Amino acid sequence: MTAGPPAASRVGESVVVALDVGGTGMKCALVRPDGTVVHAERHPTGADRGPDAVVDTILDVAEGLADRARADGLTPRALGVAVPGVIDEAAGVAVWSANLGFRDVPLRKLATERLGLPTALGHDVRAGGLAEARLGAGHDTRHVLFVAVGTGIAAAHVVDGSAAVGAHGAAGEIGHILVRPHGPRCGCGRVGCLEAVASAAAIGRRYAELSGLPGSTAADVVERAVAGEELAREVWSSAVEALADGLATGQALFDVQTMVLGGGLVRAGRHLFDPLRTALRERMTFHREPRLVAATLGDEAGCLGAALLALDSLEPR
Ligand SMILES: [Zn+2]
Repeated sequence: MTAGPPAASRVGESVVVALDVGGTGMKCALVRPDGTVVHAERHPTGADRGPDAVVDTILDVAEGLADRARADGLTPRALGVAVPGVIDEAAGVAVWSANLGFRDVPLRKLATERLGLPTALGHDVRAGGLAEARLGAGHDTRHVLFVAVGTGIAAAHVVDGSAAVGAHGAAGEIGHILVRPHGPRCGCGRVGCLEAVASAAAIGRRYAELSGLPGSTAADVVERAVAGEELAREVWSSAVEALADGLATGQALFDVQTMVLGGGLVRAGRHLFDPLRTALRERMTFHREPRLVAATLGDEAGCLGAALLALDSLEPR
């Protein structure tokens, strides 16, 4: 993240406190209204300690950042927190999060009580998508689909800088559209979901199964495919085909200008994007082909998105 100007020139400046809480770590920052970062820090989530301890850590870290802002002469105006799972953004409740053990945690109320700041609660991928659409790879287009391909696959549909939340806080679960009716079983319980075929985790698992090499990762598969190994090429290309099926469904539903791909799989670079663009193009009939680009904010997107949610809570768009 970029460092801010020297402390003396920022006295009295408004900032928001932003936290992106993941299963293993939290990315945290003080962010100006223009989206630039004044200060950033990271903390372990410690999810193995149970949900109550995680909530305490979130509140402690947020309070510490607000105190730090004040000590530096800044004015913290609001707090934004992004968490994974099913999030009721309107009610400010983390309805369900497997990674954090959350079940109906009224995080917005708890944070407002502790910090005395207006608080926005958001979903991690939607927050990341919001940041990519407004500050990152999609900043020059109005209709953006952000798709994070990592351990799982999830998306955020952003129009004019706002991400669709859905009626139950579960919009964007593109990882659970059916692409292979006779494919592997998904973590959600159904067979053949996109995530069960094309996530980084699924690619590594599939290759490990077929090659007998336990612990293989998607990065290993790409490396071996590029080196010309036949099995790795097959596993990689069937994952890319499935991903293209998923993105084509996304385009049929949302008709976006830009699809921004984030998450660990994007590290494959042109080995992902070249075949994926071709496969997506083959699937377009009357739909317009979207521009397919890599995310530019990296793993800071969720934290920046949490900051945008906090800013939007002060001045709704
Ligand atoms: Zn599923």
